[in-house]
Amino acid sequence: MSYDTDNIFAKILRGEIPSEQVFQDDDTLVFMDIMPRVDGHCLVIPKTPCRNVLDASPAQLAAVMATVQRMSHTVMAAFGATGVTIQQFNETDGGQEVFHLHFHVLPRHAGQSMRPPG
Ligand code: IMP
Repeated sequence: MSYDTDNIFAKILRGEIPSEQVFQDDDTLVFMDIMPRVDGHCLVIPKTPCRNVLDASPAQLAAVMATVQRMSHTVMAAFGATGVTIQQFNETDGGQEVFHLHFHVLPRHAGQSMRPPG
């Protein structure tokens, strides 16, 4: 599968559509999910083109996972959470809707259910 340069997250990276950005480094960007399933739901993406985990280089995965770990600590502290759910989907049949690699980071609390997608 090829990389579509017109996907929404590519447009966010190019600054063509707005996003609520909360962190970035040389290799990754983090912004809030537009339809959060819990308070503090954010998305971690690589700055370089990558469709999903199936398409990722070891360097892209390493950079993204380092930021996922960092943001897990950050959102847990910011939202007083006692756990964190990390989600990631690949291809349409795997539940992927936006075809630029991303990890969902969702701070969680005891007994809390997640809102449905969309
Ligand atoms: P997935 O590909 O199944 O992981 O779903 C894509 C995710 O991107 C969903 O949680 C959407 O709410 C989120 N999303 C879609 N468009 C935007 C946007 O413009 N800004 C932030 N999040 C978005």
